[in-house]
Amino acid sequence: MSFDSFLDDLAPDMGGDLDLDATLPGVNEGEIVVIRSKRRKKNISAYRAGGRIVVSIPARMSKADERAMVPEMVAKIRSQEAASTMSEAALAARTDELLSELAPEITTRPKDVTWRGMRERWGSCTSIDGTIRISDRLKDAPAFALDYVLFHEAIHLEVSDHGEGFKQILARFAKAEIASAYLDGYEAAETALAMPQELKKLLNK
Ligand SMILES: [Zn+2]
Repeated sequence: MSFDSFLDDLAPDMGGDLDLDATLPGVNEGEIVVIRSKRRKKNISAYRAGGRIVVSIPARMSKADERAMVPEMVAKIRSQEAASTMSEAALAARTDELLSELAPEITTRPKDVTWRGMRERWGSCTSIDGTIRISDRLKDAPAFALDYVLFHEAIHLEVSDHGEGFKQILARFAKAEIASAYLDGYEAAETALAMPQELKKLLNK
């Protein structure tokens, strides 16, 4: 069995060969995954999956066309996202609402709440200077998942650890269970998407 058909059997929806080594102008490596699909004849599609942008192109497309088309598709996805993303001022306002509604004993407000490209964490808080950073992987997340991370980090403005006091306040967030299921599922999807690359390494040995 060839390597390509092995991958096709393994992940029929991914269309086979993952071209992860290609370097493309204006494209941040690791964030972009180009898939060459044997079933795809002409059209190209791009979508967000996990923390990555996946671009699916016909298997027979030339390298030159790939270099021309992929950055265009990535730019399209990014501009769609920018149009629908909450501003940082809106993040700060939402944090204020969550604290007022759910944790009135916390009177500190963040000095600023910013989006940050973070792959390892969903958010972080520095209580000394009152800043909160939220992973940009949450830009397209359902509101309850973003709220859950905002609320978690906002509690840290006054409670630094994850002890009983912290847990009691966090438990007031009604959708905690579904929010943490969403975040876990997102991470599982990212891991699954990264898997074929690891397999590829093993198979090329
Ligand atoms: Zn925490």
